[in-house]
Amino acid sequence: MREKLELLRELQELDGDLNARRRERAQMALELAEIDEEVARVQEMVDKLDAGVATLSGQRSDLSHDLVLEEGNVSRAEGRLPTIKTQREYVAVLKEIDTAKKMNKDIQDKIAALETELAAVNRDRDEKVAEMAAIKERVASRQEEIATAIGTCDQVLGAGDSRRDEFLAKLPTRMRKRYEMLLDRRAGVAIVEARQGVCTGCNMNLPPQLFNSLFTTKEILDCPHCNRMLYLAESC
Ligand SMILES: [Zn+2]
Repeated sequence: MREKLELLRELQELDGDLNARRRERAQMALELAEIDEEVARVQEMVDKLDAGVATLSGQRSDLSHDLVLEEGNVSRAEGRLPTIKTQREYVAVLKEIDTAKKMNKDIQDKIAALETELAAVNRDRDEKVAEMAAIKERVASRQEEIATAIGTCDQVLGAGDSRRDEFLAKLPTRMRKRYEMLLDRRAGVAIVEARQGVCTGCNMNLPPQLFNSLFTTKEILDCPHCNRMLYLAESC
């Protein structure tokens, strides 16, 4: 039984290491996810601004097209002037030209306003693109570092799991099940030291008789408070 107790202690130590590594791995994965999220957030802004630039450019292009048409109308009407015979018709064409010119002015004002807006959106877009490049440059080495560390961690975890299986295979089924059950229900700690009459798992005093039995028994004894398996500290 002493031998089994020793196995359980080694197994517990290994499980403690593996759990710490898993936590470390989860922390690194979280940092990676946060980096990805930051990149995605800025990329989303860049995409939105790109879409804004495309919309405004489209509107400007439509208005430029309208302007060309209207300018054509003005030229045609002006071309007709020398051929006009009556005063009434002359006045009517002049009015037509005047209206078309006002419309042109209106379109030109709209184009100017659009261009101001477009310049502002372009500036914002360029700023965000620069921010994006800076973020990517800043995080690239960290991303690589984490990816490498996670790769190493996975190798260690894989080797640790194999060692764990070897330990478990050496334990009797009932003991193995009990260990796994305690591990699951007692925050990853199934076997603990009894030190100076206290269970170091739950920090409760052990009944003196139980504590004394630990010195002589060949059985594995459990803490009556937290049910964890107990072993005796060498210093006791
Ligand atoms: Zn306890």
